[in-house]
Amino acid sequence: MRKKIIAGNWKMNKVLSEADQFIEEVVGKTPNDDKVEAIICAPFIFLSSLVEKAKGSNVKIGAQNMHYEENGAFTGEVSPVMLKDLGVTHVVIGHSERREYFAETDELVNKKAHAAFKHELTPIVCVGETLEQREANETMNHVENQVTKALTELTDDQVANTIIAYEPIWAIGTGKTASSEDANEVCTHIRNVIKNITNESTAEKVVIQYGGSVKPANVDELLAQSDIDGALVGGASLEPASFLTLVEAGTK
Ligand code: PGA
Repeated sequence: MRKKIIAGNWKMNKVLSEADQFIEEVVGKTPNDDKVEAIICAPFIFLSSLVEKAKGSNVKIGAQNMHYEENGAFTGEVSPVMLKDLGVTHVVIGHSERREYFAETDELVNKKAHAAFKHELTPIVCVGETLEQREANETMNHVENQVTKALTELTDDQVANTIIAYEPIWAIGTGKTASSEDANEVCTHIRNVIKNITNESTAEKVVIQYGGSVKPANVDELLAQSDIDGALVGGASLEPASFLTLVEAGTK
C-alpha cells in the first residue's frame, strides 16, 4: 500500500510572518498516521524558519526549485547542499511554471533529479500537458517523454523514491480540474512507463500525485483513484484549514 503524500506548493506567496503563522497553526494538527505525509514547499527565504518550527512534527519542508551544482558562480541560485544543510527534505523539480517562464528543459530536470538524490533530498518531479497537447491527443506521448527523460540513469531504488506530480497545465490555478478518471488514466500510464523503464515492483512503489486546482471539495474523489497517491496543491495549500483538510483526506 503506497503512502498518500499531500504537498503544498506555495509558489511566490506570503511573507515570513505569514509563513511562520501558518506553520504554527498546522504543526500538531496533521494526522499522526502512517498512511499520509504532509509537506510544505515554500520560498527559499522561509525554509530555515519553517524547518525550525516544524521540528518534531510530521510536517516536512520542501523547496520549490534548486540548482544542480553544489556551489559556484551561479548568482541568485540555491544548491542542494544548502537545502540539505537546513533540514529540507523535498524539492519540487520541473514545475510547469519553471519550464514555461524559466526555460527549464527535460535535461535540466534530469540533472536536478540526480543532484537531489546525491544530497538525499526527495525530488517531486512535475510533468503535464498543455491544453493544445491534450486537444491534439498528445497527452500520453508528451508525459511519457517527460517522465522518461526526467528519470534517465537513475537507479531503480532512486526511481522508487521519486515522487511524480502529474499536473495538466490547463488545470493549474484555473479552477478547472481534470476529471478524476482522466487524471487517473494519465497516472496509470505514468506507472506503466516507469514499469517499462525499470520493473513492476519499482513502479508499484512510486508515489504519483495529481496537481491542478485540487481543493477540499474534489480531493476525496481524486485520492480514491487507483493510481493517484496524493496531491501537489497550490492555491488551496495557502490557508491552514484547507491544507489540513487535504492532508486529512489522505488518511481515508
Ligand atoms: P493549483 O496549483 O493547486 O493552484 O492549481 C498546483 C500547482 O501548480 O502545483
